[in-house]
Amino acid sequence: MTITELRQRLRALGAVPLHEERVLRQWVQAKPIVSDSQRWFTDFFPLTLREAMPGIAEELGGIARLQSSHPGEDGSARLLVELRDGQAVESVLLPRDGLCVSSQVGCAVGCQFCMTGREGLIRQVTSAEIVAQVALARTLRPVKKVVFMGMGEPAHNLDHVLEAIELLGSAGNIGHKNLVFSTVGDPRVFERLPLGVVKPALALSLHTTKHELRERLLPRAPRMSPDELVEQGEVYARKTGYPIQYQWTLLDGINDGEDEIEGIVRLLKGKYALLNMIPYNTIPDLDFKRPSWDKARAIARTLHQRGVLTKLRDSAGQDVDGGCGQLRARAEKPIRL
Ligand code: SF4
Repeated sequence: MTITELRQRLRALGAVPLHEERVLRQWVQAKPIVSDSQRWFTDFFPLTLREAMPGIAEELGGIARLQSSHPGEDGSARLLVELRDGQAVESVLLPRDGLCVSSQVGCAVGCQFCMTGREGLIRQVTSAEIVAQVALARTLRPVKKVVFMGMGEPAHNLDHVLEAIELLGSAGNIGHKNLVFSTVGDPRVFERLPLGVVKPALALSLHTTKHELRERLLPRAPRMSPDELVEQGEVYARKTGYPIQYQWTLLDGINDGEDEIEGIVRLLKGKYALLNMIPYNTIPDLDFKRPSWDKARAIARTLHQRGVLTKLRDSAGQDVDGGCGQLRARAEKPIRL
């Protein structure tokens, strides 16, 4: 189901926009949709709608179900979420009321260091399934920030992701700059995002300043060079007033050399930007390695001293199979808790 289809169904049952918004708000905020003690339900909803609501509530509750939860030591928790057709995606409860959601089952970009990229694209996650991940997480703890950094490339599922963002930024009561659209970069993103009523913050996965290396690491990403990405990112940042978050997965011996430091300074110094460096979380089946924490800290410090606002981060829940797609990959083998 998409959010548009849900709206159409409600309208067919006699809902006017006010009823529609109330249902959507209750759902995305994980509050009861059927409420015989509330006047908004008993007095203001038409009978046809009231009678249909228990069925709709059950259907909405079944869009995304918690299959398993894997708490990390850092206050995060990885959730394996089952969708109605039996496919599974991952959501991650982040410290400080954040949630990372998945926008696709699998992913077509094929980043060489990513477990999800290995599977290829299995199917799109619908707008309702994205919102349902938030509603499900809100039954567990508050969610005030949503980042689209789970499985999938949001730019490859743009209509659904933007529809979900619009609902989360309105009925979902999430501040627009607390919705973070994360992408490897795609010209369509730079065309569509500025036109939306809800303009999310933007995270761009850069990973290297070298065009050819980026093409090898992200083989099926759109052919935008690092220079073009930063140029487009800067336009969006100035338009929205939110800095671009550049993501850099630090891979030992691949993108952690002096040449990359020079490249980053050339590209990002003076830009309205924040560089998030995340040391790679080693995956047994893949060849890439995590650099030492001391090395990562030295790189971040050098960049900071040279005028690039840099934060060194660990991926949330990395003690519980961090890295998108690992939980799902494990679930296909048996999960070891
Ligand atoms: Fe897709 Fe993101 Fe994995 Fe790359 S890192 S393959 S874009 S899910």
